[in-house]
Amino acid sequence: MAREATASKQSNVMPSTGAGEWPRVLGRLREELGETAYRSWFQAIHFERIDEDEAVISLPTRFLRDWIATHYADRLLVAWRAENRSINRISIILDPRVGASRLSPEGGAAVPAAAAAPLAVAPAADPQDNGEDRVQLFAPLDPRFTFANFIVGKPNELAHAAARRVAEACVDPAGVVPFNPLFLYGGVGLGKTHLMHAIAWHTRLHAPKRKVIYLSAEKFMYQFVRALRFKSTMDFKEQFRSVDLLMIDDVQFISGKDSTQEEFFHTFNALVDQNRQIVISADKSPVDLEGLEERMRSRLGWGLVADIHPTTYELRLGILQAKVEQLGVRVPQKVMEFLAHKIVSNVRELEGALNRISAQMQLVGRDITLESAHEVLHDLLRANERHVTIEEIQKKVAEHFNVKMSDMISARRARVVARPRQAAMYLAKQLTPRSLPEIGRKFGGRDHTTVMHAIKKIEELIATDHGLAEDMELLRRMLQG
Ligand code: ADP
Ligand code: MG
Repeated sequence: MAREATASKQSNVMPSTGAGEWPRVLGRLREELGETAYRSWFQAIHFERIDEDEAVISLPTRFLRDWIATHYADRLLVAWRAENRSINRISIILDPRVGASRLSPEGGAAVPAAAAAPLAVAPAADPQDNGEDRVQLFAPLDPRFTFANFIVGKPNELAHAAARRVAEACVDPAGVVPFNPLFLYGGVGLGKTHLMHAIAWHTRLHAPKRKVIYLSAEKFMYQFVRALRFKSTMDFKEQFRSVDLLMIDDVQFISGKDSTQEEFFHTFNALVDQNRQIVISADKSPVDLEGLEERMRSRLGWGLVADIHPTTYELRLGILQAKVEQLGVRVPQKVMEFLAHKIVSNVRELEGALNRISAQMQLVGRDITLESAHEVLHDLLRANERHVTIEEIQKKVAEHFNVKMSDMISARRARVVARPRQAAMYLAKQLTPRSLPEIGRKFGGRDHTTVMHAIKKIEELIATDHGLAEDMELLRRMLQG
């Protein structure tokens, strides 16, 4: 879909819209993806124009264009839509004259064929749809969010099995709605949207006549408010009430908006009564959704409520292995294990880490090692580090040496309490970013020279006393989780 550069003719015409929001879109990406990724890829992008619901940007080389298209098209769209909801697709074109001087070195490596895939998938064309002023009730589907690409593990097996059941029932002509609604919930980046898109893809492939609506709750509200403004609420209702499968993503955003909630509730009930399938996602379970009317909350919990738990190490490793195969890059097992250990927040960050690493490999043309992975990902790694506090250290050390927590800050000088206290100071220096005076204050207002002395003492002892060295190593590991 990335059309060739006809845009250069227009690039000296200042677009009246879009140019203002572009820096904000960039700002969002920078925040989300980190400084390194931002500098490597996004600085070279040139904003071209906005054509109705399409944003057009350009890049100076084929490599960069394809790279952005394969790895960041979805992020770009999401960020753009956060600034301007009327954007439904992004075209990335090639314009060699743009910003050639800002260019990072051209990586020779060929980009996977997927780069040529459409960046945004529009709904299957409805023959009666003149396409112009009908509301767009289908957000773009991400081509990568299929069942085939979803890795199943303990934390998501229920949600996955339920999504599959729904997808199969949707394409079965005699399909009985298995549970209504299917309510998927879990933290960010754990695969809710992926599963919903997978259901939509499956249906589109095996039963293209079925009418499917997939929307974020935000978009649902937007369309509803718009329908109110243009006095086309009848149309709006009609469209929703004639669907076979309705999926609303991130329904936590619907809370609080009374008239929209009301409309949503009616639509919901009408569909359930007609035995049409509904799939909902949220970041919390129905009972915990705030700002929703009680009747809505209980209705949402009527079907199957499936939560997606935080990932486990095994699942993270499985996902990494699958992505590495997809990307066709060679990443040493050690590096993957390292990532699976360290990037624990969510799958999106895990993917981001892998993308950065493979981008780095392509750019410098060298294999990735543990050291280079560390370097490329230092900001991500830091954000995923567990922050140990001095209080935690004191508690663990006191437990370990069988002394009272109060002895950590008391003035007692007896060896049995003084030694553990020194050990805790030593660990505080090692495991927290606190300065010596700060540490001293946390240990009953001791002077920084006392802390320094304690650290020296423990260092000496570790060198000679094997038992203590082991104790310290054990404590350090426990504290860092
Ligand atoms: P959510 O909607 O829960 O915030 P997403 O569905 O957007 O999360 O998932 C974030 C990213 O992680 C997506 O790129 C998705 O493909 C990927 N992802 C999440 N879970 C899995 C999984 N089990 N297997 C493969 N990819 C996954
Ligand atoms: Mg989501």
